[in-house]
Amino acid sequence: MHLPDYKEARTRDKREYKRVEYSFSDDIKNKYIGKKFHLKTYGCQMNEHDSENIEALLIALGFSKVDDYLDADLVLLNTCSIRENAHNKAFGMLGRLKHRKQEKKDLIVGLCGCMAQEASVVEEIMRDYKFVNFVFGTHNMYQLPEIIDRAIEENKQQIEVYSREGDLVEGLPVVRANNYKAYVNIIYGCNKFCTYCIVPYTRGMERSREKEDILKEVDELIKDGYKEITLLGQNVNAYGKDLYDDYTLGDLLEEIALKDIPRVRFMTSHPWDFTDRMIEVIGKYKNIMPSVHLPVQSGSSRILKLMGRRYTKESYLELFNKIKEVVPGVSISTDIIVGFPGETEEDFLETLDLVNKCKYDNAFTFIFSKREGTPACKLDDPVSLKEKEERLQRLNEVVNKYFLENNKKLEGKVVPVLVEGVSDKKNMYFGYSDTNKLINFESDREIEVGSIVNVEITSAKTWSLDGREVK
Ligand code: SF4
Repeated sequence: MHLPDYKEARTRDKREYKRVEYSFSDDIKNKYIGKKFHLKTYGCQMNEHDSENIEALLIALGFSKVDDYLDADLVLLNTCSIRENAHNKAFGMLGRLKHRKQEKKDLIVGLCGCMAQEASVVEEIMRDYKFVNFVFGTHNMYQLPEIIDRAIEENKQQIEVYSREGDLVEGLPVVRANNYKAYVNIIYGCNKFCTYCIVPYTRGMERSREKEDILKEVDELIKDGYKEITLLGQNVNAYGKDLYDDYTLGDLLEEIALKDIPRVRFMTSHPWDFTDRMIEVIGKYKNIMPSVHLPVQSGSSRILKLMGRRYTKESYLELFNKIKEVVPGVSISTDIIVGFPGETEEDFLETLDLVNKCKYDNAFTFIFSKREGTPACKLDDPVSLKEKEERLQRLNEVVNKYFLENNKKLEGKVVPVLVEGVSDKKNMYFGYSDTNKLINFESDREIEVGSIVNVEITSAKTWSLDGREVK
């Protein structure tokens, strides 16, 4: 049994970790043929991609996938702990599984992902959720087959959570969600320790994958006909800093852009590590999509300091304007937190002022959520929830105004769209443009999902645009 430990998780030392190649143990291969699994994924793109590996490991064990947890012999929750409501959703599902297990006694229940890295969560599961058969963390996903096999064979709760990241495991099997756009991890973890954020404790130290492994994975995806690749990391801009002297995300992006891949994206960026080299490369290559996610979190330099973001409103605006200047037609989206402990009306007006200057194409806006174990969790927080909700509403009115204003600028323009689906109405399709906008469009021909087509924008809405295909 290995239990999570925050003190250990907070450690950032120059410890060695090596690259290891994964191999599935033949002893348990296909051992559970005939059994069915249901995998529920919460949270970010990193979790979605981890679930693609988890699915492949379960299939190698012999399980087959079902979409309804009521049809499953094994249910696994891949959880998120970024905000309280993600927590509540996972515990809500555990509540339903408790009832289900009273009907189906041999149901196997497991939990993994970021919540598994939280000591208080694991203590609660061991105390109040004894029906949960196994828990494993974000650093040892590759041990899933052995942990499940032991949980079933020994019929004893298995808790295997490591708070220090282990070796970099390459070669994990993967079942990708589709055959046209793919996630590629390039760096794991985060060393930024923003005072409100739990990720450095749940995802560990920044560790870059070797560029040869990334480029090999990209080549395989290109060979398999993928149209779009998104380079993933909690903080992709730090790529290579722990591995190479002079090879960074800008260099990696350029090597990939020189390959025969129509679309390259990357997320998530921290303004702190956004280099001129990166901006130059994004502006230079047509197949690097002109859409940048640049979380600002607050427009008040005083609050940014309390958040530990290490940039000011002014330096953020400077970076923002530089990207707008160098990258033609770039769309920029962001994340904003309102109600950080101690945020005054003046601080909030600074955020509105920044939004009026940036006129974002998209923004994910949240009320501050206290995360146990983070420094911000201990700060005085005099502002009422009601006032925070009012601020969130005022902010959303402003950001939504600019979404529509920016979308309206595309009316009459022709944009390239990667088709992701057919809507129920005849000859109606949807997909995302190069600037990552949702486009619903009509066509007078049958279009294959995964194709890239040109669409003339006919009308703009706040969160999407309408159009028709043009040849
Ligand atoms: S950079 Fe992002 S993931 Fe890292 S600590 Fe800050 S908010 Fe969290």
